[in-house]
Amino acid sequence: MTNILLVEDEPAIADTLRYTLEQNGLQCLWASTISEAHSLLSQSIDLCILDIGLPDGSGLDLCKEIRQQSDLPILFLTARQDEIDRIIGLEIGGDDYVGKPFSPREVCARVKAILRRTQRTESAPKVKKLFDIGKLNFDYDRRVLRGNESYEQKLTSKEADLLKLLCENTNDVLERSVALNKIWKDDSYFNARSMDVYITKLRKYLRADPKLEIVNMHGRGFKLLTS
Ligand code: CA
Repeated sequence: MTNILLVEDEPAIADTLRYTLEQNGLQCLWASTISEAHSLLSQSIDLCILDIGLPDGSGLDLCKEIRQQSDLPILFLTARQDEIDRIIGLEIGGDDYVGKPFSPREVCARVKAILRRTQRTESAPKVKKLFDIGKLNFDYDRRVLRGNESYEQKLTSKEADLLKLLCENTNDVLERSVALNKIWKDDSYFNARSMDVYITKLRKYLRADPKLEIVNMHGRGFKLLTS
């Protein structure tokens, strides 16, 4: 049985979501505050749906707290563009987000997509996806970038998807439209500015090797240069 923890303070939203998730064979636990979520997190949870504005704090802080202890997949619910920018831009480690208002079916589809991705990573034998980027190694499946000595950077799933595309197109242009289509196809909230936020983060991660560069190809897209 797959257990979803839903942290959402508006009962009407929580009710419809729970109903849809359960119709789709997913068990759903509901917490309306961060402190309720804390007590439910001791149970075996497969994925957390997390609202940001909660009565006793911010979902972003709860996410950071969860991340210190586990890789539990997290899907954010958010009402505002500036919250989306924070989810993408900070070291929060969410797996995906859905903007409010949303349809419960859309949330359910995202949940299933994340579960497919994470369960595949955990169990099935798979083709290894390891990339050498200059002096760094990128392990796509584990979503980690490593350098010599102790450099290690965890990536969110979308960051990893974007870096993989850049690696597959090393020294060649990765068109914006290609990246948008492959990674953010179903995301009507995602725009060019959001993609720039991701690129800025990847540039920061790649600084461990000063020769690496992600160049902006005006109007077209980006190019990863390795020397
Ligand atoms: Ca709320």
